[in-house]
Amino acid sequence: MFTSKLNTEQRERAVNSLATEEFDVLVIGGGVNGVGVALDAVSRGLKVALVEAHDFASGTSSRSSKLIHGGLRYLEQYDFKLVREALHERELMVSTQCPHLVKPVSFLYPLTEKVKERTYVGAGLALYDALRGFNRSLPSHKHLTGKTIAQISPSLRQDIITGAIRYFDAQVDDARHTMMIARTAARHGAVIATGIHVDGLRRNGKKVIGAVAFDRITQKKIEISAKVTIMCTGVWSDKLHEKFGLTPGYSVAMSKGVHIVMPGSAIESKDGIILKTPVSVLFLIPWGGQWIVGTTDTPYEGDRSNPIATHEDVQYILDQANRVLEPKLKAEDIIGVFAGLRPLVANKTGSATTKLSREHTVDHPVPGFVSLAGGKYTTYRVMAKDAVDLAVLDLRRLVNESVTEKLPLIGADGYYALQQQTTEIAEQYDLPDATITHLLNRYGSLMEEVLELISSDSALAQRLIPDLPYIKAEILHAVTHEGAVSVEDVLLRRTRISFEASDSGASVAEEVAAIIGPELGWSGRDRRVSVEAFLEVIADEEKALVELLNS
Ligand SMILES: Cc1cc2nc3c(=O)[nH]c(=O)nc-3n(C[C@H](O)[C@H](O)[C@H](O)COP(=O)(O)OP(=O)(O)OC[C@H]3O[C@@H](n4cnc5c(N)ncnc54)[C@H](O)[C@@H]3O)c2cc1C
Repeated sequence: MFTSKLNTEQRERAVNSLATEEFDVLVIGGGVNGVGVALDAVSRGLKVALVEAHDFASGTSSRSSKLIHGGLRYLEQYDFKLVREALHERELMVSTQCPHLVKPVSFLYPLTEKVKERTYVGAGLALYDALRGFNRSLPSHKHLTGKTIAQISPSLRQDIITGAIRYFDAQVDDARHTMMIARTAARHGAVIATGIHVDGLRRNGKKVIGAVAFDRITQKKIEISAKVTIMCTGVWSDKLHEKFGLTPGYSVAMSKGVHIVMPGSAIESKDGIILKTPVSVLFLIPWGGQWIVGTTDTPYEGDRSNPIATHEDVQYILDQANRVLEPKLKAEDIIGVFAGLRPLVANKTGSATTKLSREHTVDHPVPGFVSLAGGKYTTYRVMAKDAVDLAVLDLRRLVNESVTEKLPLIGADGYYALQQQTTEIAEQYDLPDATITHLLNRYGSLMEEVLELISSDSALAQRLIPDLPYIKAEILHAVTHEGAVSVEDVLLRRTRISFEASDSGASVAEEVAAIIGPELGWSGRDRRVSVEAFLEVIADEEKALVELLNS
């Protein structure tokens, strides 16, 4: 009945609906929490719209460590409930909800003391495993000694390591996963549009009855009607509360987290590595052919849309990683840097409107308006359910319970069967097995959509960049099915070429514009503008690196 395709025609229909229909729920913000809320609400049978100012996951949700995890550090804070909840979500995602997108990843926790540390960390990891409950897709932790550690991770300094413990978590391409939740919500009937900036709220007396928004593409104002509005704008929340004249029960501070991306050859290890640092932990995470290393945790007050790493951030990450690595990571080998902002919520004392858990908040300051902020990427589904449970009270009718625990994302259906048929599919389309595996792990059963494009034009089967697995059909598919509208959307978020390619994708920006331009109805000028905007973004992201290399 509904389609999951997000593209220019769908957007036009969505904008028309936004201006003419009344919704039960309007969601502001297309990060993981916003799209999670839209999916939760629409799958309860509600009439839902979601508007995002830029692109899906263009805020924090494309800049995380990309781990779906219980959070080992919460064990040290005795927050077992939070860890159990996150491990339950990890199990759901890795087994049934989106096994095509969320993959197990093993980590070594290196030990530098003989007895005390092994007992302490071992007990922690035993508890971490126990909190999974009875459904266990991922293996349990294991104590390792000298020879095995050297075989798994030759880059770990054997002279200071007394042992290691291997444990499992999971990882995800966060921006892709967020977009796939949006597509799933659209598949169930949500009206979704990116490039729509909410500037104000509509009111009837005290009650909020929708929002006033600005369409960046048509440059027109839209008045949206909704019985209840749910704001999921992460680090923008304080600013918007102020603009809307609302007094929420919490405030949101920002903390910056930076990651660097290293080539695969920089670290010789089959497993990821987790290190305890003086302030938090540092992850060395295998990422396809590269390594993502981070993160930092520093207070931030600058531009929310464009958090930039400093050369001190990058130096800190190198220093921490190099404590245990031999050979050491070198600044000149870094291929990418990205920074994100954690929305840290703090409850206002005595607030009657806020339900604050350790990590996230849902707030209901006036009738018709609910907001959600904070939390972890991993637990987005639970937070979304909490927000919708609170919002539906304003609908003054019986509303179905959340069903997202039982609802797979699009592409999950048939994934395990297709995994067994990789060779046959590769032969049928005359593609390497590795390409089919790559597609399966990005699209699941929706891989058919990409293969169809290749059937119509075999040139689209070629790789965009020889060293990276992305094929040209994926670039086109990003605009025909995944709602991308710019070179930046394609190279930063639909693919991760901006931090995986040694030149950040600068050399293919023109070609990407040439592939997507006709589908988006672009003129030559539109193409140039989109390419230049992308080049500016990557120049900003590389500033820290240039500074470091010149210092
Ligand atoms: C460095 C770092 C590492 C992390 N690592 C992990 C991890 O490994 N695992 C984990 O579980 N969690 C992790 N997190 C936490 C996780 O990334 C965040 O909790 C999550 O992404 C927040 O999502 P969100 O939807 O609340 O915010 P966002 O993703 O920022 O979404 C908010 C959206 O609102 C939109 N918006 C703002 N104003 C408006 C407006 N006026 N109109 C319309 N739209 C608007 C923005 O454009 C944005 O897209 C990490 C966070 C950071 C910073």
